[in-house]
Amino acid sequence: MTRDIVSPQQVDLQSPGRRDYWIALNHTSVWGSHLIPLTVIVGPQAKPGEGLVAFGGNHGNEYEGPVAIKHLLREIRTEDVLGRIILVPVLNVAAFRVGRRESTGDDGFNLNRVWVEGAGTTPAMAGITHRIVEFVRTVIWPHAHISIDLHSGGEVARFIHWAVWYGHDDPEIDARGQQMARWFGTRIVMNSSAGAAGGITGALFQDATNRGKLAIATELGHGSAVDVRGVRYARQGVLAAAIHNGQLRGTIEPIGHHADGTQMLVGTSASVTAPYPGHYEPLFDCGESVAKGTTAGLLHDFYRLDEDPFEVVAGVDGIVASQAWGARVDQGQQILLVTGEKE
Ligand SMILES: [Zn+2]
Repeated sequence: MTRDIVSPQQVDLQSPGRRDYWIALNHTSVWGSHLIPLTVIVGPQAKPGEGLVAFGGNHGNEYEGPVAIKHLLREIRTEDVLGRIILVPVLNVAAFRVGRRESTGDDGFNLNRVWVEGAGTTPAMAGITHRIVEFVRTVIWPHAHISIDLHSGGEVARFIHWAVWYGHDDPEIDARGQQMARWFGTRIVMNSSAGAAGGITGALFQDATNRGKLAIATELGHGSAVDVRGVRYARQGVLAAAIHNGQLRGTIEPIGHHADGTQMLVGTSASVTAPYPGHYEPLFDCGESVAKGTTAGLLHDFYRLDEDPFEVVAGVDGIVASQAWGARVDQGQQILLVTGEKE
């Protein structure tokens, strides 16, 4: 197999068959390019403007998505593709190269916060991170109607596995989004408006939604590691979405919490912000049940060694969905998230 190095203008997402690319975006410093891997397979029933795209590596230190998509590059057979499947194992190659959340060493931006107007097209926003946005908007979005953005917690937070769909006013489309999220098999699924995943502006899945796509995002592990179930859920979620939306031939069985009926549809959530910098001590693992008012963690101040720690209290009845990963936390950091079942 050959993987061709091409410019964004040379990418062909429309002709039947499979193409494997390295897409070259100019480096702003050295004589060379950032090479973004992209594989497209177009089947006989592909409709204009429709297709499924799966992204890994939006953040450069989250690995379940890249690993799962790397496997799918070999597993998905061209003859089984009915519509259009676009696989991008590593989107922010500048961040992935250095194993960091942001494009450290290049322009330093966080790719999932720069989906703003003018990204990549105005001189003030012409670094690699903004130009990746422009690339997705101009090359990929015109040929995709389903976007799956595979995240994990990186070094920031530990999570139970979750999948979130971007809420939609149309109940039928919203229900499809929920089903796509459920098929990942994760412990929790939620609508972006449920709170836990909201408040992130400039995110890829928000941009996809703004452009009329059905958008899913996930949290599939943490700690810059590769989580066993996270990879499994990522692979399953992409394949199920492709099959159920007519892009891929085949059948698929539910797995994980989707299969055994233990999946939580989130209705409420409450997070806690660190009032001062300190060291976080979790008192529960992610996934454990807590009642509203339970002290789920403690924030210690080692400069006030003899004072009581700050009690990190669950704001709703539910389960610990996310909490700080590293012991050291900054003032203002979200250090606990508890999610409750939808009534
Ligand atoms: Zn991420």
